[in-house]
Amino acid sequence: MSSLVNLMTGVSGVRGIVGRSLTPELLTRLGAAFGTYMKAGHIIVGRDTRTSGDMVKYSVFSGLLSTGCNVTDIDIATTPSCQIMIEELGADGGVVISASHNPIEWNALKLFKANGMYLNKEESKEFFDIYHKGHFLKAEWNQLKDLETDASTIRRHLKKVLKHIDVEKIRRRKFKVALDCCNGAGSIITPILLEKLGCQIVSIHCLPNGLFPHNPEPIFINLGDLSKLVKKTRADIGFAQDADADRVAVITEKGRILSEEYSLSMATQYRLSQKKGTVVVNLSTSRAIDDIADSYGVPVIRTAVGEINVAEKLKEVNGVIGGEGNGGVIDPRVHYGRDSLAGIVIMLEYLASEREPVSKLADRIPKYYSAKLKTDCPDSKSAKVMRGLRNMFKKEKIDFTEGLKVSFDHSWVHIRPSGTEPVIRVIVESQHKKQASDLADKVLKEVKKQIKG
Ligand code: MG
Repeated sequence: MSSLVNLMTGVSGVRGIVGRSLTPELLTRLGAAFGTYMKAGHIIVGRDTRTSGDMVKYSVFSGLLSTGCNVTDIDIATTPSCQIMIEELGADGGVVISASHNPIEWNALKLFKANGMYLNKEESKEFFDIYHKGHFLKAEWNQLKDLETDASTIRRHLKKVLKHIDVEKIRRRKFKVALDCCNGAGSIITPILLEKLGCQIVSIHCLPNGLFPHNPEPIFINLGDLSKLVKKTRADIGFAQDADADRVAVITEKGRILSEEYSLSMATQYRLSQKKGTVVVNLSTSRAIDDIADSYGVPVIRTAVGEINVAEKLKEVNGVIGGEGNGGVIDPRVHYGRDSLAGIVIMLEYLASEREPVSKLADRIPKYYSAKLKTDCPDSKSAKVMRGLRNMFKKEKIDFTEGLKVSFDHSWVHIRPSGTEPVIRVIVESQHKKQASDLADKVLKEVKKQIKG
């Protein structure tokens, strides 16, 4: 029962398919392993809206409680809400039950420590070692602790998000905001946030029932409904979240679905205009960030993909803003984690500070074309495939921080095995549209060849 075969494991936790690899037996063991890793401390548990949420949650509770942990159940909450609650309640760690942007059949455990940040690579390894050894703490009848609930999550998260924002300035504009929460964890808290900001809300898919009306990844192909809604209702702006609301995408008043890269680019543009300082992003994030940072004379630091890698560096260098180009904005004033709500308030304050609509603010972002492709590749093969790919770029300088990244004058390519799905991702960006798609196709063809061979 202890094998983690057919699961995705790493710094983003453990992901699997419900009814297949993600079973209650396995989840209880993972709970017991985490309780042991946390020395039977106080653990906060939240979940997104997936229909498997209760099955997963009660299995994990059982494991955690068996080690002597006391557990606070905050039930349906966004990942950033849960991260903030760990800090706010002074807990020792937390578990978020959410497979984030993965499709509905998936669920996952995301694991956090006392500061509300993900376990990093070394800490994850320590945790998985405990899991595999199976020597879990076992509390006796008189050492078992209570399972508690706490209803302060929304209030505490919103207080943090709104603390550094000019709420009155946004309220005066009476923005009409279109919202698509994909029936995920953002469905409850996000409309409350927008109401506090005096916005008129037009929403679709904001029922927290976990029945995703489309794939929850906030990318172009999934956001057609929201684009139509923006146009039909003449909204000022549209926001789309993934299922656990750490990522956000923006739609302009014209209904244009901005690439998810724009969320961080625009937030960075605005935050640097308020305060100059270091920006930290992952290797796959748009070069537009470097151009924006250059215009303010501030440095950009790049890390491996994965929130914890960016967040740790951002904290270390005391940066002003950071995140991931997949729509993950990190505002250190709120918390060292990606937070769609923090991203939304920055965007609305930016919009309130300008005389121009969001389409014009988007036009200010340096134009790059990206192509993000992926192909199935079993975890067991990915290391060999990555080694095989080196040959393709033997004349270039390769950055091995994570996978392979090769930078050219007007373009770059980043190839990496995903940490959350059994796929290899190819991300290309170029100033020229055709060059981006040609390079991506060429690299993907080589990746597929390596997988076959
Ligand atoms: Mg997510």
